[in-house]
Amino acid sequence: MEDSKFSLESKLKAMNPEEREKVVEEIKKKAIQDCIFCKILRGEIPAKKVFESEDVLSFLDINPVNPGHTLVIPKKHYLFITQIPDGELSALMSVVKKIAGVVLDATKAEGITISQLNGKAAGQIVPHVHFHIIPRYENDKMDNHWPTQKLDDEQFNNIQRKIIELVKKLYEPKENTEEKVEDEDEEYEFKPRLP
Ligand code: 5GP
Ligand code: ZN
Repeated sequence: MEDSKFSLESKLKAMNPEEREKVVEEIKKKAIQDCIFCKILRGEIPAKKVFESEDVLSFLDINPVNPGHTLVIPKKHYLFITQIPDGELSALMSVVKKIAGVVLDATKAEGITISQLNGKAAGQIVPHVHFHIIPRYENDKMDNHWPTQKLDDEQFNNIQRKIIELVKKLYEPKENTEEKVEDEDEEYEFKPRLP
């Protein structure tokens, strides 16, 4: 599986831009066709919906951690949160906040976990951006702790330097103001990702 991903990436790199665009479009089309949340959006499989707007859908998770475990998704298919343009993400987050409040009220939960996983390595199973809103109780079965590592100062400094370099690039002023306005809602990605 991983091997095929790498060979696909090298094949894409070897293509000219037109060929690459065509192949990526095909891959995107297939990803949307196969995506379980896109199937819910198209009405091909049922879901217990709790909210719908032009751009956002919210429905109950089929395998809840606790009753009231709700998902919030953008209607457009994105794999990683970093691919969502700022304006769309703001609208999505506003719904996440509201649904979290409603779920808290509806369940009388003691707390709420909002979780959003990007990539298989992070535990993402459904390849369509989604926020989990999970009602929480003292002593429920969900694990609140993740394993940590000890880093020495050099390791902290190295990763801090790399992140700062990229953050600076991201925020450095653009020379052409017209271009700046156009780019404001552009998706942020250092590395292109397939859907
Ligand atoms: P993740 O990708 O963040 O690991 O989790 C995906 C979540 O989607 C899981 O909690 C899973 O229970 C939920 N899920 C997967 N398939 C369906 C489905 O067909 N309907 C609903 N309502 N939830 C689903
Ligand atoms: Zn999808």
